[in-house]
Amino acid sequence: MTMSPDTPTLTAVPPQVLLGNHLKALKLPTFAREYEKVAMEAAQDRADYPRYLLRLCELERIDRERRNIERRIRAARFPQTKSLDTFDFAAQPSLNKALVLELARCEWIEKRQNCIALGPSGTGKTHIALALGLAACQKNQSVAFTTAAALVHELMEARDERRLRVLQKHLNTVKLLIVDELGYVPFTAVGSELLFEVFSQRYERGTTLVTSNLPFDEWTSVFGSERLTGALLDRLTHHVHILEMNGESFRLATSKRTQRRASPGLNTITKKTTEGANTTEI
Ligand code: ADP
Ligand code: MG
Repeated sequence: MTMSPDTPTLTAVPPQVLLGNHLKALKLPTFAREYEKVAMEAAQDRADYPRYLLRLCELERIDRERRNIERRIRAARFPQTKSLDTFDFAAQPSLNKALVLELARCEWIEKRQNCIALGPSGTGKTHIALALGLAACQKNQSVAFTTAAALVHELMEARDERRLRVLQKHLNTVKLLIVDELGYVPFTAVGSELLFEVFSQRYERGTTLVTSNLPFDEWTSVFGSERLTGALLDRLTHHVHILEMNGESFRLATSKRTQRRASPGLNTITKKTTEGANTTEI
């Protein structure tokens, strides 16, 4: 049988196309993108085949790690990106810097310990929580960030829509659950129980980081029940790192400095917002 020179045959498919298909199926996008360039470099350097393959493997692994971290950060749903690099420890002397740096190494997450950051508004609790969350993502750990109010709302909604188990399962599987702003909004009895269940199910199974403007002895005002608060604190504080942040509000200190620069001689300003739980219940 004779074939005209321009009849396509399987062997006429350029190897680059076949290679592209295989690399796509094998999920090696960096190989696909880089192999020609790396081949030229390898030829220039007179690198042998194993070295050529090694370079490609290294590039693929580095890129995969970066993609994983980006995926972890997206999944964590951080409201903003904050890191320890931008945290001024000198402005918050009550905070144990050594402990924060230790927590950023993420060994506490491997050990399934907890952390509670306590202090008034503006002292950097959310900043530290976000920074520790980011550090965990960078160590390829699964993280979920939420506020206590949003979490209770989500749990109640899931319960009403009969998908509470699915949500609870998801909350149980993340390595680090960050619950920010416990204390601003008191919960209904149902809300308290649902949040208690989350903490309780994660006990010794996963790491939970809670931030609160309230000292422990005032947590009952949030959960409504002394018995439930006691049981919750018992679990949460069993293996716990406490971050005390009792200094001045960073926002307030910054605006004081700005005001002082604008009108020298003015040393005090009145903070308009008031602290503490508001009266809305969820
Ligand atoms: P909190 O959660 O305790 O109310 P935030 O973490 O929201 O406080 O801090 C308020 C703002 O001030 C944020 O923009 C945060 O990044 C910034 N901030 C607070 N403390 C510091 C600090 N010590 N160094 C740098 N920025 C800070
Ligand atoms: Mg906050």
